[in-house]
Amino acid sequence: MKSKELYQQILGIEYPWEVTGVELSLEDEEVLVRVEYVSNTAKCPECGRECSIYDHRRERRWRHLDTCQLKTFIVCSVPRINCTKHGVLSIEVPWSESHSRFTVLFERLAIDMLLIFKKQKRVGELLRISFDQIHRIMKRAVERGLSRRDLSDDIRYIGIDEKSYRCGHSYITVLTDIDKKRVLGLIEGRQKSSALSLIRDTLDARQREGVKAVCMDMWRPYINATRECLKSADIVHDRFHLMKYLNNAVDSVRREEMRVISIKERKILKGSRYIFLKNKEKWTDKQRTRFQQIRDINLKTSQAWLVKENFREYFNSQSINDAKFFFTEWVHNAKETGLRPIIEIVNLFIKHTSGIINYVIHKITNSISEIMNSIIQEIIFTARGFKRYESLKTAILFFLGGLSLYP
Ligand SMILES: [Zn+2]
Repeated sequence: MKSKELYQQILGIEYPWEVTGVELSLEDEEVLVRVEYVSNTAKCPECGRECSIYDHRRERRWRHLDTCQLKTFIVCSVPRINCTKHGVLSIEVPWSESHSRFTVLFERLAIDMLLIFKKQKRVGELLRISFDQIHRIMKRAVERGLSRRDLSDDIRYIGIDEKSYRCGHSYITVLTDIDKKRVLGLIEGRQKSSALSLIRDTLDARQREGVKAVCMDMWRPYINATRECLKSADIVHDRFHLMKYLNNAVDSVRREEMRVISIKERKILKGSRYIFLKNKEKWTDKQRTRFQQIRDINLKTSQAWLVKENFREYFNSQSINDAKFFFTEWVHNAKETGLRPIIEIVNLFIKHTSGIINYVIHKITNSISEIMNSIIQEIIFTARGFKRYESLKTAILFFLGGLSLYP
């Protein structure tokens, strides 16, 4: 079999397209496969009507899968037709989508490799294409995916969360579908206006009415945006965010206390954690004495830690009444500690009681947002710091949008 026929078969080139020549350049490590259109007529890309060929465009190259590790290109002067209705237009080529410099098979390979390696720079090196070219493949894949995405299924639960980038100087707001664990969309900024645009651009009026609850931090702009455009949705404050506030409060107490504590006191504290994990009623005499000693030295960190640990139990509440009862008790006990960082958080929680109680009804969290954080960090790290928001958006939707990406 001659090389022309071989490539004709490998590339699946069929009449009226024909492989007219194969050139090998060992110097450039390239194979050029010349393809020509051999008929006098072709279909109009707009209306499909058979039209006569008007002229040919300048020669172009499309990168295809390598042949024996040689970069392989299809080279062709694409004909233009003259349609009486649509004018002079280039015809479609069977090996590539319009506006792409790669064949469909090459793009599929690039998408597969990106999904496996996750690292754009690495995939660019393996495929011997530039970072910008990789980025354009991703951008087209995301555009395809978004145009195919069917949001006609009800979206019951959404998450809305902020992420920082550019070393914490800029913020994005990310909207997630909690049931399907996918990113629906994102926007620059974390203001009420950004959240409103994001929700309205992503979900139509019917879908917005179908949303049962929105999971979020206690961030006022997001609360206001939700109340304004998702009128029938409950607000649920995300448990990971709530626990983070408490963790930070415990840490503030510990740091303050470490400055004033003596070596002798540190000895008493050592290994006391277990005491606080147990119910008071179940303490042994020895543990009771130990607790007495700790209380005597007024260990604030232990008190703060206990407040935080107790709050974990809240998420096991079985009913709204249980939850309300637990919350009231917890608030009371937490306030009794008199610890400033703890009381600040308790007051913040009190202001958001309904969003905390709503957890028991819907049992949703922004855990997908937590998984996303590490991927976003990786994206930002590998992609020259993502100076431009659009590149970040493309990468997040590519990896986390659950989109149908292939050409
Ligand atoms: Zn036409």
